[in-house]
Amino acid sequence: RADAAMYQAKEQGRNNFQFYSATYNRAALEHISLEAGLRRALSNDELELYYQPLVQACTGKVVGLEALLRWNDPREGAIAPDRFIPVAEDSGLILPLGEWVIREAGRQLSVWQAAGLSNACVSVNVSAIQLQRQDLVAIVDDVLEENGLNPWQLELEITETALMKIRPEVIGYLDKMRQKGVTISLDDFGTGYSSLSLLQELPISKLKIDKSFVRDMLIDPKDAAIVSAVLFIAKSLGLSSTAEGVETPEQAAYLASEGCDQLQGYLLSRPLPAAEMTRFLKSRKALDLLKSTLQVS
Ligand code: C2E
Ligand code: MG
Ligand code: MG
Ligand code: MG
Repeated sequence: RADAAMYQAKEQGRNNFQFYSATYNRAALEHISLEAGLRRALSNDELELYYQPLVQACTGKVVGLEALLRWNDPREGAIAPDRFIPVAEDSGLILPLGEWVIREAGRQLSVWQAAGLSNACVSVNVSAIQLQRQDLVAIVDDVLEENGLNPWQLELEITETALMKIRPEVIGYLDKMRQKGVTISLDDFGTGYSSLSLLQELPISKLKIDKSFVRDMLIDPKDAAIVSAVLFIAKSLGLSSTAEGVETPEQAAYLASEGCDQLQGYLLSRPLPAAEMTRFLKSRKALDLLKSTLQVS
């Protein structure tokens, strides 16, 4: 019987090993094929920027447009950024990809501006690897000049987690850009581990409250407390604030009453392709929406 048990354990061990290695192989294979796909996507025009409005809570005006990367794979269909951005970061593809995003977003904003459509600013998500390995200052300068944009019309979003990982000297680049007038925002704020003392040292101008807090804010008093505390910290440190993931009028009203500067979320608009965003901007839908929920004038 002991022999039988031992045999069984061995078999299980072996199976487990096969199981783990199969899972590992599958993940590795997916990674490799995503990487090859991304490489092709970059040269084949399979990438597109969608835009989501940031709306000023007290006026209902669209003050910003966040560029969100979309990959339409001809075989697989739409692939979410949460799946391909990590692959792009591991492979270094994030460098050409991230540069394309900044250039394309700048170009699109200048088109909207020339059409008299928007005095807004465009924000792009920037990976820590870009800050460490790319001359972002030069790219930003170039994009501003080429498109006749003011520095305040460009916002760089970097996640709290990413910012904690970067080398101290890289902070200098961010500071250079902020001094120029570019807005630097801390994205997904509340999900990382930045200390409050660091917050006042970092060259940032804005906190973006992560959508996970906004989601349960009106159900869970603890989340409401976190949101209020973050808004208080932002105000105390002279930073502006944006709440992500605003889906209901009740959430918008609470955030506005707590002094949140800007609202972003499905309530106002889902991220849209540029042409649809043009129609949205013309329609002044965001203003009407907030007028009815917040009684803005
Ligand atoms: P993020 O920068 O925090 O962007 C906000 C995410 O929340 C977007 O997901 C957006 O579609 C989603 N969202 C907006 N409003 C709502 C809402 O009301 N409810 C819910 N449930 N979700 C909402 P998306 O587009 O899938 O992007 C995911 C993440 O991928 C982004 O999070 C950002 O970290 C990253 N990402 C996207 N584009 C780029 C890029 O060009 N470069 C880099 N480095 N990262 C990017
Ligand atoms: Mg973002
Ligand atoms: Mg975010
Ligand atoms: Mg996020």
